[in-house]
Amino acid sequence: MYARMTRMRVAPDSRTFLDRVRRARAAMERSDVDLLLVSVGSDLPYLTGYEAMPLERLTMLVVPRDGAATLVIPRLEAPRVHEHPDVFTLLPWNETDDPVALVASLVDRPRVAAVGDTMWARFLVELLVHWPSDTTRYVRGTVVMNELRMRKDVAEISALQAAGAAADRVATQLQAGEIKLVGRTEAAVSADISARLLAEGHDVVNFAIVAAGENAASPHHHAGERVIVEGDLVLCDFGGTMAGYCSDITRCVSLGEPQPEVAEAYAVLHAAQAAGVAAGVVGANCQDVDRAARRVINDGGFGDYFIHRTGHGIGMEAHEDPYMVEGNSLPIAAGHAFSVEPGIYVPGKWGMRLEDIVVATDDGPLAMNRVNHDLVVLG
Ligand code: ZN
Ligand code: ZN
Ligand code: ZN
Repeated sequence: MYARMTRMRVAPDSRTFLDRVRRARAAMERSDVDLLLVSVGSDLPYLTGYEAMPLERLTMLVVPRDGAATLVIPRLEAPRVHEHPDVFTLLPWNETDDPVALVASLVDRPRVAAVGDTMWARFLVELLVHWPSDTTRYVRGTVVMNELRMRKDVAEISALQAAGAAADRVATQLQAGEIKLVGRTEAAVSADISARLLAEGHDVVNFAIVAAGENAASPHHHAGERVIVEGDLVLCDFGGTMAGYCSDITRCVSLGEPQPEVAEAYAVLHAAQAAGVAAGVVGANCQDVDRAARRVINDGGFGDYFIHRTGHGIGMEAHEDPYMVEGNSLPIAAGHAFSVEPGIYVPGKWGMRLEDIVVATDDGPLAMNRVNHDLVVLG
């Protein structure tokens, strides 16, 4: 019923990747790293536009601080690479080659090498034979990549907007009563929402939490065989990846008029979420977002029932830096993309959460989700 649609996507161009590699080199300069090695994981498509399958064969982007970048790749995978010759040179290796030796032959032994978190351990172990740790200091690739990855550029913000708009269309269908709830299991509704995320343009569904009544008191409840009935408060938290970037939204609907206690709590939650968004401005700290939302919930008398941080960064990964949590004094910068998702969870009774993705800009928070924030009553 929900055919996967193929649509034209505006892919980032060479200029975008050139700019990202240039910024990576500037970060290497600042942190005194002279070689960056990036293998499977999302740093590679971020820098090159190429997403490697997590195979046993080595794929590695070799970025010296001074000097040309090289993408070392199994010959059979090379045809899948969209080349950006001004960004990197493609170096295919054959089945009988030693790809780690090839990497080591490309550059002089580095003093400090930054290694991507998700490189297979075996490649690092083999690299240590060429560049022992008494002469080369190894640091995590995040030293170079974290700040870049947190600050979304124009191409990334438009990808997040497109993914957010697609998730919004599914949330609109939920609020319009187009997704049948009463009489179905949580699992069936979760499958329905997943199909709709794909139909609206996502390439993959990352999660579709559907939690009814008392089940919603567990924030990451796994949709199960519980049948949804009239009177339930139903929490739906779903998202996927579209053209490499993630969506993530939570809306609750009430099947019938909510209990006064639920309506009162939702009013508090709604105000808390808005306060969290309003606090997410350039120059504030990440923890200020958490504090702003939490203050409203505490003042409303539900403080004991808000049991998680207020938000997480989002981009190529569904959860990434920066985290909106007490103790994170990182200043919010233009381009930081994150969720604001306070919740109230009363064990054994009900749970509710309200979540949007926002991007901090110099003109204030930019909403990636614009769907009605009210507790919509269905039936
Ligand atoms: Zn979560
Ligand atoms: Zn979510
Ligand atoms: Zn989230």
